Amino acid sequence: MLKFYNTLTRKIEEFKPIKKDEVSLYSCGPTVYNYVHIGNLRAYIFNDILRRYLKYKGFKLKQVMNITDVDDKTIRDSQKEGKSLKEFTEFYTEAFLSDLTKLNIEIPGILPRATEHIEGMVELVKKLLEKGYAYKTENGDIYYKISKFTNYGKLACLQTDDLKQNADGRLSNKDEYGKEDARDFALWKAYDKEDGEVYWETEIGKGRPGWHIECSVMSVKYLGQPFDIHTGGVDLIFPHHTNEIAQSEAAKGKKLANYWMHNEHLIVNGEKMSKSLGNFYTLQDLIKKGYDPLSIRYELMSTHYRQKMDFREDQLKNIPSTLRKFHDFLDKLDEIESKEYNKTVTELISEAKENFEKAMDNDLNISGGLASIFNFMTEINKIEIGVENATEIKEFMDKIDSVLGIMEHTNEEVPKEITELANKREEARKNKNWEEADRLRDEIKDKGYVLEDSDKGVRVKKV
Ligand SMILES: [Zn+2]
Repeated sequence: MLKFYNTLTRKIEEFKPIKKDEVSLYSCGPTVYNYVHIGNLRAYIFNDILRRYLKYKGFKLKQVMNITDVDDKTIRDSQKEGKSLKEFTEFYTEAFLSDLTKLNIEIPGILPRATEHIEGMVELVKKLLEKGYAYKTENGDIYYKISKFTNYGKLACLQTDDLKQNADGRLSNKDEYGKEDARDFALWKAYDKEDGEVYWETEIGKGRPGWHIECSVMSVKYLGQPFDIHTGGVDLIFPHHTNEIAQSEAAKGKKLANYWMHNEHLIVNGEKMSKSLGNFYTLQDLIKKGYDPLSIRYELMSTHYRQKMDFREDQLKNIPSTLRKFHDFLDKLDEIESKEYNKTVTELISEAKENFEKAMDNDLNISGGLASIFNFMTEINKIEIGVENATEIKEFMDKIDSVLGIMEHTNEEVPKEITELANKREEARKNKNWEEADRLRDEIKDKGYVLEDSDKGVRVKKV
């Protein structure tokens, strides 16, 4: 039985999608004003494992991830660079998608931009005004009236009195004189000359949307209301997701999403990641240091998503050898020649499959899932297998990798130059020219590769 921890109820619950074989999934995406850091990327890795496992279970996926391409930061930084908002945000959107691809994260099917959904946001704000859940101030800002929504704060388990702080979250505090209540948050920001060219002339005035309203609009537009799963980092529970619920549920009188899943924070070497501590990493920073993206993927996914993750560079150094276990295992399968069929393989596969699914069904218990596969490889390595066995094992490993996404050999390709040196060495050995053979082996080693002799010949591998 597939079960997830639902932040809404603070319980692990059986997952029951609205449609029998399709899952609607909304994931809060990035604000595209800079490169994302590995803390952000952890959230997208969690989304990816969730998405891939749902597909593994046979569900069709309808996934939406928003791109926040208008807010205080995108406006401020595009002006600093003297670029239009669109040019500026498209650059970082591309950079974001390229990071996802490098980490082997599947790109969600629908990637709506906030600036392309202003009309829907205006409609929702109008509805909230009509129903008395919103009010306009003298300068044209529109706020959500929290006191009117009785269930406010349920997701975050907040008491209404806890909400003394500004509920606006990412928005700044300036120009908020007209608020009736300090807890109220902005649905619409009236035009300010600092916004420069960035504004929309609409029925509710000239200005731009608040941050929370965009997710309420873009999720429901593509997925309907309610939809199945809403994801994000724990830092979004309040105020962002709390406000999404207040907006959407007040407007339509029904639930926004049935399951809310949140990933925990990432810290670096036991400390909060920050630029001033010098422990702030983007994906590009780590790649420049020589780490391979699949190792980074493995590191980010191997801690359970609801646990705080301590990212350590020294751990990252050990991952290539872990990944090599998978690659070596798969390579060896290609070299099997025996026609002898070993019946125990089928049993081992069904046992491993059962254990993998049992772990992953339990709120995506990734370490249990990985352990079952490592155990499987150890057991297979102990026995004699035939060609047919090798084929069934490869099919099974493929299926598992449709969830894990770590078994591709992309980064292990051997350059032509090295292959040629290896061939020359073989030649020297055949001619019993041992001195030359050793010299070539050393030359290959200096270039970062090793030769492994096996009964099938020589295999070249990256150190
Ligand atoms: Zn959002």
